[in-house]
Amino acid sequence: MEKTDVKNLTLEGLENFIAGLGKERFRAKQIFKWLYQMDARSFAEMTNVSKEFRSQLEEIALISNFDPEAVEASEDGTRKYLFRLADGSAVESVLIPDEGRNTLCISSQVGCAMGCAFCLTGTFGLSRNLTTAEIVNQVCAVKREQPVSNIVFMGMGEPLANLSAVIPAVKILTDPDGFQFSTRKVTVSTSGLVPEMAELGRGATVNLAVSLNATTDEVREKIMPVNRAYPLKDLLAACKAFPLPSRRWITIEYVMIRDLNDTLEDAKRLVRLISNIPSKVNLIPFNEHEGCEFKSPPQETIDRFHKYLLDKNVTVITRSSRGGDISAACGQLKGRLDQQAGKTDGEE
Ligand code: SAH
Ligand code: SF4
Repeated sequence: MEKTDVKNLTLEGLENFIAGLGKERFRAKQIFKWLYQMDARSFAEMTNVSKEFRSQLEEIALISNFDPEAVEASEDGTRKYLFRLADGSAVESVLIPDEGRNTLCISSQVGCAMGCAFCLTGTFGLSRNLTTAEIVNQVCAVKREQPVSNIVFMGMGEPLANLSAVIPAVKILTDPDGFQFSTRKVTVSTSGLVPEMAELGRGATVNLAVSLNATTDEVREKIMPVNRAYPLKDLLAACKAFPLPSRRWITIEYVMIRDLNDTLEDAKRLVRLISNIPSKVNLIPFNEHEGCEFKSPPQETIDRFHKYLLDKNVTVITRSSRGGDISAACGQLKGRLDQQAGKTDGEE
């Protein structure tokens, strides 16, 4: 019989697992704390659990763990972690220090099937979904060496295409007996899978970020194939309906691409589109990468766009590109997939 990886289980899942063994459910809380607050790597460490129960657990369960295969540090303090998975594929997580916060950007899939025209991860297609354990292990491994204050699902993959693993991971992250992140400190980002937005809202309490990236269906369709299934009207209705943690807003991500979505007309339409959604806008200057002909707009264009939103009382920040020197910026993660395909990428 295959052993159960306890890091795939929410607290409720662990309670059921333990109840199935004829043990008291409250033992689950103790084990959960060992896993996520004490970073236990073995059942043997769990000294407040009886020896007999620990050896029973060892026989039928396991605790998976990640050790980074490589860590790269940027001049600006950003750190990129590469994790090799059991099947040989790889994912990346990026830790971004900013004004006293340490935001960890985690991956939810190996590659991505959404095919956005501007995104490097997207060009590789989807290899597979990550498991819940593979998602939370990114956090365990980074937390071991750096404090982590915020979590964003903005690494590789479309988290809403992997909800069966992402919802339990969010629960583990925000459980008071688990990682203990406030629900306001965890954000799931989506390219706009409308039915799954509602499903996420029903399944977990968490912040939502939506990659809008365009203000007309015509332009959005060109750069984000998902828009054909879920056009702007439906996407914005889903944003409006999303049950946010109290006193929160939706983050509208807007990657600025030269001569594509960067005019004042776009800024004007953007203000109109989000006018009835509690939101803040993150402008992300396009991070240029090889094999993609898009360019970032000139600084004046970005400033003008930013100022227009400010003048209309929209909360807006322009995200400075971080970790560019180690290819850790938004949309640059690739988990060295090309290496798997036998090519070299000059980074070795
Ligand atoms: N799949 C999810 C989360 C991962 S992508 C999503 O699309 O929302 C995280 C963010 O990076 C998205 O807002 C996306 O629009 C942005 N992004 C992708 N490629 C980029 C690039 N080359 N430059 C700047 N931002 C990029
Ligand atoms: Fe996937 Fe997000 Fe990249 Fe689009 S932007 S290809 S959804 S990771």
